[in-house]
Amino acid sequence: MSFLDELSDSIVNTTKDLGKMAQNAGDLTKLQYDKKVKESELSKLYEKLGQKYYEEHKDEDDEEIKEITAAILRIKEISEEIMQKKGGKACPKCGALVKDGSKFCSACGEKIDDIFEE
Ligand SMILES: [Zn+2]
Repeated sequence: MSFLDELSDSIVNTTKDLGKMAQNAGDLTKLQYDKKVKESELSKLYEKLGQKYYEEHKDEDDEEIKEITAAILRIKEISEEIMQKKGGKACPKCGALVKDGSKFCSACGEKIDDIFEE
């Protein structure tokens, strides 16, 4: 085999190898993406199951249940603080911001009588 033939073979083989590497990299990227999608779906399922479990067991004397209850209460407090800073309160029906003194919620139309009487 002449030098040029060998060089030509070598180039062809290198090109084939690069093609295979690119395909492998593509397959790997797709597999990693599929794995992330499945992991995300699993997390959402766990979250849904966790919420269902919490609703059914929220009165039980369990450390994690108590932590979740505390987190929910804290989030509620923070939300109220945010609404106050924005100059209103949360609509009791839909949670949207109702500006101080409003008679109705502009988001859902709920009549607002009592939330500003304090
Ligand atoms: Zn509302």
